[in-house]
Amino acid sequence: MFAKRPAALLCAVFAWLARRRAGVLLAAGLLWPALALAQAMALAPASAAVATVPAGLPSSGPKPWPPVLGETLEASLDDPELLLSQTRKRLADLKAPTSPAQAELAFWLALHAARLEIVLEADTDATASLRLARQLFAAQPRPSPQMQVWLEFMELRHRAITEGSTEALQALLAGRSRHRVDAQSVLGCEWDETEIWLLGEMGSLDEAWRATEVLERCGVATGWLHFRAQALADRAHLAGQAGTVGEAAGTGGSPLAGERVAQLFEEAYGVVGPGPARFQRSLIAYSAGTTLTDMGRSAEAARQLLRALAASRALGDRAGIAAALTAQAALDVREGRHADALRALDEAEPALRQIGSGTAGRLMALYTRRLQSLVALDRRGEMQAAVAGAIALPENGVQPAVRERLARAVAAALAAQGRHATAYEWMQRAHALAEQSRSVAGGAQVLRLQTLYDGSRREAELAALRHAEETTRLSLQAQKATARTLWAALVATGALVAGVAAVGWRQWSRRREMAELALRDTLTGLANRRAIEAYARAQFEQAQRLKLPFTVALIDLDHFKQVNDQHGHTTGDALLRAFAGAVPALLRAPDRLGRWGGEEFLLVLPGTAQHELPGVFLRLRAAFAAATVPGLPVPHGRSFSMGGAEARVNGIGTGIEALVEAADRRLYEAKAAGRDRLG
Ligand code: GH3
Ligand code: MG
Ligand code: MG
Repeated sequence: MFAKRPAALLCAVFAWLARRRAGVLLAAGLLWPALALAQAMALAPASAAVATVPAGLPSSGPKPWPPVLGETLEASLDDPELLLSQTRKRLADLKAPTSPAQAELAFWLALHAARLEIVLEADTDATASLRLARQLFAAQPRPSPQMQVWLEFMELRHRAITEGSTEALQALLAGRSRHRVDAQSVLGCEWDETEIWLLGEMGSLDEAWRATEVLERCGVATGWLHFRAQALADRAHLAGQAGTVGEAAGTGGSPLAGERVAQLFEEAYGVVGPGPARFQRSLIAYSAGTTLTDMGRSAEAARQLLRALAASRALGDRAGIAAALTAQAALDVREGRHADALRALDEAEPALRQIGSGTAGRLMALYTRRLQSLVALDRRGEMQAAVAGAIALPENGVQPAVRERLARAVAAALAAQGRHATAYEWMQRAHALAEQSRSVAGGAQVLRLQTLYDGSRREAELAALRHAEETTRLSLQAQKATARTLWAALVATGALVAGVAAVGWRQWSRRREMAELALRDTLTGLANRRAIEAYARAQFEQAQRLKLPFTVALIDLDHFKQVNDQHGHTTGDALLRAFAGAVPALLRAPDRLGRWGGEEFLLVLPGTAQHELPGVFLRLRAAFAAATVPGLPVPHGRSFSMGGAEARVNGIGTGIEALVEAADRRLYEAKAAGRDRLG
C-alpha cells in the first residue's frame, strides 16, 4: 500500500498518524449511542431488540433514559475525561449491587468506562474495565442477549484497536454475522465504525472508503447524525490519503482534490453543529490537519492543528495533545522547520509515555520524525540516543507499515553516522516489513469481501461490490501511474475526445445507438440473447473468483401457442411485453432478465443460491398473474414454468453453457410435471 521510495516515507508517516487519531475520532462517536442504548435497555423489557433504539438525536427524539444519563450523553462528545471520572465514581458506589437492576447498571457502567478508556487511548485501563464487565456479566441474575452482544462488541473493538491484525479483523467480521447485527441499527453503525478504522489501519483504503458509505447510510437511517459527521470526516481523510499514498515525491494531491477534502471536513463540522461537542470537534480538526498536511495544504493544516491542540489542551486530553503536537512536528518536517519539529516532539513524548500502553505506534511515528529531523540537521551526537530509543520501542500490535517507516529512518540515521553495515541491515528489515504490510492490506480486503456476503447484509453488499471493484481498480491504476503519466493520459484522452468530435459526433452516436440496439430485444426491451449470455458469463466468472453463489433460471411461458391461436399474435406479443415489464422491478440490482428466444427467458441471479429460487419463483408468479394484458380476458391463465441451476463454488471446468443446460433440463421437468411450477 505504501510506496517503497524513501521520498514517500514522509507522507506515509503522516498518513499513519492521521489514521491512528482518526480511530479515536471513530471511537468517540460510539459513546453517545452506547450509553443511550444501554439505558434504554436497562429500562426496557429483556425482549427489546437492538434495532428498537429510538431514532433521532437525543435532543429531538424520545428520551427513555434517566435524566442524569441523558445529560452525560452529551458530555461524552464534549468531555470524555470528565464523564469517565463520573462513571468510575458511579461504578464505585455500586460495588455491592442489591437488586438485579443495580447489577445490570453496574455492568453497563463498567462497559462504558471501557469505552471511554478506549477513546482516551488508555488501553491498560480499558483491558481492566472489560475484564470487570465480563465478570459482572457472568454474575448477572438475568443476563440479556443485548448485554452479551454489546460486551462482545466492545471486546472485539478493543482487540481491533490494540492488535490491528488480520485475525482481529476476522473476529470482528465473524462476530457481526454471528449476531446478525442489523445494518441500520446503532450497533450496526458502531460495527461499521470499527471496521473503517481497522481497514484504514491495515491499509485497505478502498474497503475502508466503502465502509464509510455504509456508515453514512446507517447514520441517516438511525438518525444519529454524529455517525454521519464521522463518515464524512473519515471519507475526507481517506480521500486525502488515496490522493497522496501513490505519489512518488510527496508533493500532495491535486488542488482540486484538496478543495474537495477541505470541503468534506467542513461538511463534517456542519453536521456536528454548534452544540457542546468539543471533543468530537477537536478530533475532526486533528484529522483535517493531518490530512491537509499530507496534501501539501500547509497553511490550512497548521490552522486546523492549532485548533485541535487548543481544544485538547482545554479538555486536558493527553492523547489529543500528544497527537496534535506530533502532527505539528510532521508539518514542520515537511516545511523544513526541523528545530521546531524537535521541540514539539520533546513535548509530545512524555505525554505519550504517561498514557502508557496503546501508544506504541504513536511513539514509533514520533521517533521516525525525530530521526528525520536529526538527520536533516546533521546532529550526530543526539542521533545515537534517538536510534537507541527507537530500537527499544515495543513492537506489539504496531502495523508493519509503521515499523517499516521507523526502520528506514533508523537506517538513514545509522548511515549518517557512518555505520553503513548496520544501516544496510535496517534497510533489509524495512524491505521485509514493506512486504508484510502489503500482504496485511491485501488480506484485509479479501477477508472483508468474503464476509460481506454473509447473512442479512448480503443483499446490500452485492450492489456495493461493483463499486468496490471499480474503486480498487482505479486506485491500483492511480498507484501505478506517476503524476506525469497521469497527465499524459489526461492529455491523450483530451486529444482523443477532440479527435472523435472532429470525425463527427453524429456518426459516433449513431454507431453507439446501433451497438445498443444490437444488445436489446426490440419487442420486450430486455437484453437479447447475446447480451444476457455475455452478462451471465461475466457474472459467473466473477462469482467463481469471489466464491459466491451464482444461479441461472430458464423461464418458458405456459401454453403460449394457445394465446396466439385464440387471441392473435398481437395479444401474444402483448403478453410477452407484460411478462418482461413485470419482472425487473422484483429483482435486485445485479439480477437480470433477458429474452432467450420466443417465449423463453433467461434469469441471471448473481449471489443467489438454489434454495432461494422458490421465493424468486413465487414473487415472479404473483406479479405475472396480476399483470394487465390488453386483449387478453382475465381468467386466462398467465403462468410460466421455470428451471434453475446453481454453479458449484470452485466449479472449475464447468461453464455457463453447462449451467444453462442444467436449468433447461429442470424446466423440461417442470413442464412435464404439469407446468406453472419450478422444476
Ligand atoms: P408449453 O407450455 O409447453 O411451453 O407450450 P407453448 O404453447 O408455450 O409452447 P410452444 O413451444 O408449443 O409454442 C411457443 C409459441 O410461441 C410458438 C411461436 O409461434 C410463439 N412465438 C415465438 N415467438 C413469438 C413472438 O415474438 N410473438 C408471438 N406472439 N409469438 C411467438
Ligand atoms: Mg417454448
Ligand atoms: Mg411455452
